[in-house]
Amino acid sequence: MKIVKYPHPALRFPAKPVSSIDKEIRLLAGQMLELMYGNKGLGLAAPQVAVPVQLMVMNFAGEAEQKDKECIAVNPVLIDKKGVQEGEEGCLSFPGLYQKVRRAKTVTVRAYNLEGQLYEVVCSDLPARLWQHEIDHLHGRLFIDMMGPLGRHASRKMLEDFEDDYRTAQKKGEYPSDDAIRKQLTEYGKAIPAPVM
Ligand code: ZN
Repeated sequence: MKIVKYPHPALRFPAKPVSSIDKEIRLLAGQMLELMYGNKGLGLAAPQVAVPVQLMVMNFAGEAEQKDKECIAVNPVLIDKKGVQEGEEGCLSFPGLYQKVRRAKTVTVRAYNLEGQLYEVVCSDLPARLWQHEIDHLHGRLFIDMMGPLGRHASRKMLEDFEDDYRTAQKKGEYPSDDAIRKQLTEYGKAIPAPVM
């Protein structure tokens, strides 16, 4: 498992709600936390590892040692937002790219934890920014979509470089074609028909 970078099609593919919190989902969450800490990120959403399910992991301090700052969200929903904050944001799928992004200052979110319990959180500032950034990933929205015209202009060269790198890797066979990836994403989690006996 690895973090896919822009413009991998998984980043634009809407994730499906998790239908049952089973061993597979818990294993995925653990692997995502490891990848997030290994890459010094504050958050990671399943589409960033090319798995189209509504699962995301965060640590508001970005420190593996600070377990109390760790948060896992299954099927999260943003239920309220208030105010505005503006600040620099980055993303593990766009290494090295930082730009100002406007977000709501305070959010109310609802999600399930890995025990299947529903919880609700109200938070502001950085945690609120993180929740919004990661929930966006689950809907195929990226922080480059949220940049103002100046930020977008300043990012253009780096985005072109990401695109060139990805196409080169694809030509070398590191990734299947975009259509083949989208087909895999569409088929992910589809039930295998039970054998009729
Ligand atoms: Zn991101």
